[in-house]
Amino acid sequence: MSGDTNDAPVLVAGAGPVGMTAALALHARGIEAEILEAEPEDRDRSGSRAIYVHGSTLRTLEKIHPGLGADLVEEGLVWPTRRTLYRGKEVFSRTYDSPGGSGDIPHFTSVPQVVTEQYMHGALQDIGVDIHWEAEVETVETSTDGVHVVTADGREWDAEYLVGSDGGGSTVRKEIGANFEGDQSENAFIIADVEDEEIEDGHPGLERMFHYDAPEADGRNVLLVPFTGGWRLDIQCIEGDDPEELSNDEQMREFVRDVMGEEYVDKLKWVSSYYFLQVMADTFVDEHRRVMLAGEAAHLLAPFGARGMNSGIADADEAASAIAVALSARTNAVARDEVELYAARREKAAEYNLNAAGQALEYLQGDDPVTVLRKEAAAEMADYFETAGEWLDDAPYGPHGAPPIVSTGNY
Ligand SMILES: Cc1cc2nc3c(=O)[nH]c(=O)nc-3n(C[C@H](O)[C@H](O)[C@H](O)COP(=O)(O)OP(=O)(O)OC[C@H]3O[C@@H](n4cnc5c(N)ncnc54)[C@H](O)[C@@H]3O)c2cc1C
Repeated sequence: MSGDTNDAPVLVAGAGPVGMTAALALHARGIEAEILEAEPEDRDRSGSRAIYVHGSTLRTLEKIHPGLGADLVEEGLVWPTRRTLYRGKEVFSRTYDSPGGSGDIPHFTSVPQVVTEQYMHGALQDIGVDIHWEAEVETVETSTDGVHVVTADGREWDAEYLVGSDGGGSTVRKEIGANFEGDQSENAFIIADVEDEEIEDGHPGLERMFHYDAPEADGRNVLLVPFTGGWRLDIQCIEGDDPEELSNDEQMREFVRDVMGEEYVDKLKWVSSYYFLQVMADTFVDEHRRVMLAGEAAHLLAPFGARGMNSGIADADEAASAIAVALSARTNAVARDEVELYAARREKAAEYNLNAAGQALEYLQGDDPVTVLRKEAAAEMADYFETAGEWLDDAPYGPHGAPPIVSTGNY
C-alpha cells in the first residue's frame, strides 16, 4: 500500500540519527523507505548533543551500511585516560593501552553528533534513499491495512508501516494517542563545546575528567570530555543558581578560563543550559500495529551514560527487523506479532535505560546525607583503596549493564 506521493512501503518520520538509521536498516533488509523531515535541507543542526558512541552502536551501523561504523571510528577519538578529582584532589586515574572493543571497532568513539549525522546522510545518498525536506508530519491515521499520513503542506502519503522517529516533541506519538509523562531533573546543567583543532585521536593527554565540587567552578561538579575538534564542558548547577545567568557569555568565559585555561577563553563554540527529562511513552506502537516509535519520540533520557542516541539507534535497527518480517508474513496475525515483539523488547530496554540514567542523575544531584557521606568516605579512602576511587569515577554514568532483552546492540 503505497500512496500517490510515495513509492516506498515504509515511511520514516524525522531525519535525526534515529530516522536515518531506520531507513538504512530497512534498506539493508531489502526494504525501501522514504523519510519525511519537517526542516529544510539547509537546516542548522549545530549544538552540543551526543558525542559518546558505544562500540555496539558502531557495529550496528557497520552491519547496516558497511563502512559507516568504520568512518565514525576514523572521525572520532578514544580517550585513553579516565580521571576523577574530588574538591581539587585526584582520587582516581587509569590509562588504557588499547581502545578495547573487537576487531577494528573500539569500545567507543567520541565524535560530535553533527558529524555522525553527516555520515548517515552521506550513506543515505549512496543508496538513493530520499529525504523529503519540509515535509512535516501533521496527521497520522492507521488501519489494519496500513498508515495514512498528511504533511503540513497538504501532501498525502500511504504506507504499510511508519517509523515515528520525529524526536522528543513527536507528532506521530501524539497522533497514535500515546501518553508521555515523566520527571525533570532538579538541577540545570550548562553544556558547552569548546573548540580545539588539535584534539584528535592519539593527541597526548586525552582524558575524560570528572571533578566533584570543583573549586574552579565554585564547588559545582564539572565534566570535561574530549572529542575530535574540541572539548565538551559540562557544569552542574547547584541550588540557587540561575542557569540563564550562568550560561551568559561573560560567566562562561570565566568558567572556561578557570577550568581549562586562558588559551580556551575565545574558543567557546556553543553553550546551552538544560533541565533533563526522564520520560517514556506508555506504548511504542499504535492500536493497529502499523506504527513504531523509536528514539526520542519514544523515550527521553538524561545523557549520563550516553543512552539517548545509542538506544535510539538500537530501536531503529529493531524496528527495521520487525518490519522486514512483518512485510513478508503470510498472515496478519504474524505481522502483528512482530510489531508487538518490537514493542515488548524496546519498551523493556527503555525502562531499563530510564532507570539507569535516573540512577546516574539521582547520584549527581543527590544531596541526601547518606549519598554525601558515601562520596566523602570514598574520597577519603581513595588513597588506600583503588576501588573507592573507581566507584567515584564510575557512579556519575549509572550502571554498566545492558537491558535484559535485546537482540542487537547493548542498549
Ligand atoms: C547535551 C546532550 C548530550 C547528549 N549526549 C549523548 C551521548 O553522548 N550519547 C548518546 O547516545 N546520546 C546523547 N544525547 C542524546 C541524543 O542527542 C538524542 O538521543 C538524539 O538526538 C535523538 O535522536 P532522534 O533521531 O530520536 O531525535 P532528533 O535528533 O530530535 O531528530 C528528530 C528529527 O525529527 C524531525 N521532526 C520533528 N517533528 C517532525 C514532524 N512532525 N515531521 C517530520 N519530522 C519531524 C526533527 O526536525 C529532527 O530532524 C545527548 C543529548 C544532549 C542534549
